[in-house]
Amino acid sequence: MTGGARGIGQALVRALCREGADCLFTYLSSSSPANALAEEIRESGGRAVPSMLDVRDYDGSRKLVAQAKEEFGRIDILINNAGITRDRSLFMMSRDTWGEVIETDLTGVFNMTQSCITTFMKQKSGKIVNISSVSGIRPMPGQVNYAAAKAGVIGFTKSLAKEVAPYGIRVNAVAPGFIETDMLMQLQEKRRTTVLDEIPAKRFGLPDEVARAVLFLLSEKAAYITGQVIQVDGGLGI
Ligand code: NDP
Repeated sequence: MTGGARGIGQALVRALCREGADCLFTYLSSSSPANALAEEIRESGGRAVPSMLDVRDYDGSRKLVAQAKEEFGRIDILINNAGITRDRSLFMMSRDTWGEVIETDLTGVFNMTQSCITTFMKQKSGKIVNISSVSGIRPMPGQVNYAAAKAGVIGFTKSLAKEVAPYGIRVNAVAPGFIETDMLMQLQEKRRTTVLDEIPAKRFGLPDEVARAVLFLLSEKAAYITGQVIQVDGGLGI
């Protein structure tokens, strides 16, 4: 799983380990929180291994997947969670700011998924969940890079789901709305208040509420579900 040290990723690591999964999760800058999380999981009798990765790094992604196979013997699940926002109006958006988000949020999904897919195809099983966003469905102004990347993740999910369903591999996405993490805190307070008003449930979501939808998609209860997007957004995307 990518981006496991904080936010939604941290809730996902905890939820997966609670369910008894062994988990390799990546971090980029959050090395102390990553080690603390691994220790917390170890103390509760689980196994979570942190590993540094920039998901923009194609060769690094391939090496990480090889490391995971060596560490655990097999891989059954991939969760592409790492993501960033760099919101700007289009006329103010530099080529680098565009590229940073596309490379992290969309190409990162390609890098990690391509690194895992042959293994899944050979073993004729595998489950992939991509964390998209309500912004890929009902975007806000001022985030063409993020909206394009997250809509891209949905297209990627649906195309790959068709491609690999004959191999017993399921590929789904979860599109969170506004969830209480550092990413939400990057929005100006005034904007957060306006957004809150637009959410039918009248509250922000919790990381664990996203994790529960992911767990469902990974479970046998979702055995016949592929190529779908579950919106966890308090009704925002309606
Ligand atoms: P946070 O900002 O809390 O965490 C972002 C995570 O992504 C961190 O774990 C970070 O690692 C990792 N990351 C960022 N860049 C890279 C990179 N280049 N390579 C590897 N890892 C990277 O975000 P959230 O937990 O809120 O978001 C998680 C996912 O959910 C993202 O894909 C986001 O787009 C999506 N989402 C979030 C929403 C929200 O309201 N919070 C709404 C909709 C979607 P590190 O800390 O180690 O640098």
